[in-house]
Amino acid sequence: MNQVLQVKDLSSGYGKVTILRDINFQIEENEIVAIIGSNGAGKTTLLKTISKLISPFAGEIVFEGQNITKYPPHLISQAGIAHVPEGGKLFINMTVYENLLMGTYRNRKKIKEDVLEEIYEIFPILKKREKQLAKTLSGGEKQMLSIGRSLASQPRFLMLDEPSQGLAPKLVDDIYQKLSILKKKGITILLIEQNINYALQFAERAYVLENGKIVMEGNSKELLGNEHVKKHYLGI
Ligand code: ATP
Repeated sequence: MNQVLQVKDLSSGYGKVTILRDINFQIEENEIVAIIGSNGAGKTTLLKTISKLISPFAGEIVFEGQNITKYPPHLISQAGIAHVPEGGKLFINMTVYENLLMGTYRNRKKIKEDVLEEIYEIFPILKKREKQLAKTLSGGEKQMLSIGRSLASQPRFLMLDEPSQGLAPKLVDDIYQKLSILKKKGITILLIEQNINYALQFAERAYVLENGKIVMEGNSKELLGNEHVKKHYLGI
């Protein structure tokens, strides 16, 4: 299997405050990997560092063999990485179609027809709602739109920040079913979740982040049976 992402000795934070310390992990092609951890562990900071919304203090990020540590955000997108941020961050006063357009890395006037068709095939509801303003969508539809928008740049690697947040269980199942379709299409997925049950049901492997450090890793089955995970994250 080819390695898609390799994060080596990564440290990052805000201003002078270090949040992530010596983070090391890797993701193979077409894997689904979760980063789990409680509130404030540094999960969002990790995704923001990989997509370069914040700059790392130290360490290296290698994507498909290229050192992307110093790339600005638009080059990260062009390299084939997409980031679905926490809460979706949609342009709520724009239509569904205009939001999808914003996902193309050059904000083109049109999305390539075949890319748009593929997004609509995965999320038929977006085609139905194409001309509606994003603010009129339900919570589940908004999450579908933010994932759909991330596909407009045709990524090979997708990072999602808490896709289950604020959604009823049935809608979470719908979202995860869509993510399974993306995996079948060959996309590698890194997922961060506070809902560890969802994360470990869906991902093949996971890393546990506590206070900015990776303290444990393993396949999802192993972690579900781990005493520390059961006690601290599953309340068993
Ligand atoms: P949550 O699920 O609550 O988002 P998280 O694991 O994603 O948790 P982060 O959002 O990465 O955690 O936050 C990690 C730490 O960084 C927290 O202590 C938080 O207060 C701090 N932090 C987050 N954003 C900023 C910021 N813009 N400036 C300064 N500190 C921040």
